[in-house]
Amino acid sequence: MPVTAANLGFPRIGPRRELKIAVEAYWAGRIDKAALLDTARGLRAATWERQKAAGIQVIPSNDFSFYDQVLDTSVMVGAIPSLYRPLGTADSLDVYFAMARGTRTDAGDESCSHGHRRQGDVPAQEMTKWFDTNYHYMVPEVSPNQSFQLSSHKAIDQFVEAKALGHHTRPVILGPVTYLLLAKSKVEGFDPLSLLPGLLPVYVDLLTRLQNAGADWVQIDEPALVLDLDDAQRAAFAIAYGVFADRLTGLKLMLATYFGSLGDNLATALALPVAGLHVDLVRAPEQIDAVLAGARANLLLSLGVIDGRNIWKADLNALLDRLEPIASARRKLLIAPSCSLLHAPVDLDLETRLDPRMKGWLAFATQKLDELATLTRALNEGRDSVRDALNRNAAAVADRAGSPLTRNPEVRDRLAGVDATMAKRRSAFVERIKAQQAHLALPPLPTTTIGSFPQTPEVRKARSAHDRGDLDDAGYEAFLRDETARTVRWQEEIGIDVLVHGEFERNDMVQYFGEKLSGFAFSRAGWVQSYGSRCVRPPIIYGDVSRPAAMTVEWWRYAQSLTARPMKGMLTGPVTILNWSFVRDDQPREETCRQIALAIRDEVLDLEAAGARIVQIDEAALREGLPLRRADWQHYLDWAVECFRLTAAGVADATQIHTHMCYSEFNEIIDSIGAMDADVISIETSRSKMELLDAFVGYAYPNEIGPGVYDIHSPRIPSTQEMETLLIKASARLSPAQLWVNPDCGLKTRRWEDVRPALINMVDAARAVRATL
Ligand code: GLN
Ligand code: ZN
Repeated sequence: MPVTAANLGFPRIGPRRELKIAVEAYWAGRIDKAALLDTARGLRAATWERQKAAGIQVIPSNDFSFYDQVLDTSVMVGAIPSLYRPLGTADSLDVYFAMARGTRTDAGDESCSHGHRRQGDVPAQEMTKWFDTNYHYMVPEVSPNQSFQLSSHKAIDQFVEAKALGHHTRPVILGPVTYLLLAKSKVEGFDPLSLLPGLLPVYVDLLTRLQNAGADWVQIDEPALVLDLDDAQRAAFAIAYGVFADRLTGLKLMLATYFGSLGDNLATALALPVAGLHVDLVRAPEQIDAVLAGARANLLLSLGVIDGRNIWKADLNALLDRLEPIASARRKLLIAPSCSLLHAPVDLDLETRLDPRMKGWLAFATQKLDELATLTRALNEGRDSVRDALNRNAAAVADRAGSPLTRNPEVRDRLAGVDATMAKRRSAFVERIKAQQAHLALPPLPTTTIGSFPQTPEVRKARSAHDRGDLDDAGYEAFLRDETARTVRWQEEIGIDVLVHGEFERNDMVQYFGEKLSGFAFSRAGWVQSYGSRCVRPPIIYGDVSRPAAMTVEWWRYAQSLTARPMKGMLTGPVTILNWSFVRDDQPREETCRQIALAIRDEVLDLEAAGARIVQIDEAALREGLPLRRADWQHYLDWAVECFRLTAAGVADATQIHTHMCYSEFNEIIDSIGAMDADVISIETSRSKMELLDAFVGYAYPNEIGPGVYDIHSPRIPSTQEMETLLIKASARLSPAQLWVNPDCGLKTRRWEDVRPALINMVDAARAVRATL
């Protein structure tokens, strides 16, 4: 048969997060290593079986990981920094988990929503986002004199394990060039890519062993091929794959690219001496013509046509219209998901509470396997051979396209009526700030926090009791009011100038709003790995977004009633809500974002009408939404900034708009940060020792700014002295009149024991520096 159904990777967490549960039990000492390995083996067996049962012919192995596939690669090639070496042999679980999360005595992974963790005796490796997904990988750390040796046989072992269960799999490994491009070195100016010659023999060794174990194909992931690359980086691909072609005979490599178009790297990719090439035709359907035109006849193409990054059913007939001519023109072809299914939830069948009509529009990883199998069969045996499945699919696609659930005429009319003035504050900042100062009467260097206060075990317990129905609404409400009141009073006591209510009523900064907006749905088991054992359930934006009722006004009103000091209204911005959700794919993302912007705008105005003098609109994920290619940045930034402005700009001059952003490397996008025109921006800077402020200095940023002086990612309590030093540094760079004093981010992951002294010190530091002005 000319067309084959292939998969690139399957979620490893298990349908009910079995891996998370086992790994955390192991960390806490509740289960031993044998029990953990047993669970992992069981999950792998079930995953292979699931794919086989669905009719997938090319099934991956080595897509399983206890924490992260990039960390697995570091261990595989022996890139283990000396810090971790005394903890055990290179392939021991102790070393592995120490690299993943540091060593520490307390159990559980506590971290900020964007993925920082607390440090222990031996710190964890740095973690960052995997391309433009919300998956985080452990950044490989290499040194100029780095040597590599094959240090883990996991890929081989799991191939053999699958074989014993009757599955002839295609092992997956991360390619050497992408691996080094993701790596970092502590030595400034050192380019990890220069280590390629030393790394290749390890790959040759591994690939040879895989071949000896019986593998005929290996999937080698090189997603870096969809990034902007320079000539040297492109040349590295030619060198690496040239070496593989020379040194390996008979083993076929499927070079997998995904998350975008090969673009100007296409010629490089097509010239590599590999047996197969996988391309992402969901993100970049337009590249098919160039790929087909340029691919030599014996290059096996793997067409990624099922969206591995989203949860919508594919339109199978439309895909077949595109694929049939290709299949009849090329002898052999693989049909695959666009990328690993790692980024999709496991199984839609576990959803019992979704609106059945909407559920019919969805496909999670398991259902995507069925889609691949159906497409493949239709291509090989004709559409009639899968007529029922195609008809069901067509009915679901038509139902979604015509459903009133996705379209709200009022929202559309309103959006059509949006004009540029709605995204513009009435006056320029210099005017506004005068009105705000008169209204707020704050001291110089005003102190504030980013919003959340500790989500203690008691808060979480009360929330889950309420979710289960064990605590009634009135009881839960009373509990939350109590927490809020105590937090407000405490802030007042220690002398914070601008208060927050603490966000105790919020499970998550996106979910909380999604649950109150129309057009959003929430799954029960739609978990996706975010990093390590941490899984998230992104909201599903399926329809036009509107706000049936005010969302935060009552809590704000209550909190403000407890104090005469300004209480910030606290909202999540539209871009962040969008970037942390599964977004409908039947209209441009920016359109969906504008709808969210209008809904949040109404909330801003309601808060103002209720008396809020300050409203903070968090855009934690604005920067991380940047596209992979520079050429696409400006378009994204333009609409993202416009959406923020649309949200913020309805208020009077005297109402002060704050925003908060987490990662604060703004050098390249400072124009857009300026264009947001927030009256006050709070950012994460403490660990950079205020160096990240340079972007604002260079730009001559005119508005106010709160550079974080307290690293909330660490349980360490910063002293008054060190925060004073940071403030003095900041005031040397910017005018003291512009500065606010605040922590780097929200305090929800911290304990009160840490937060109390840290904030007291912060207020003292502000007072001390104020006295010198
Ligand atoms: N207001 C939010 C909080 O304090 C902001 C969190 C974030 O930016 N990640 O929790
Ligand atoms: Zn933050």
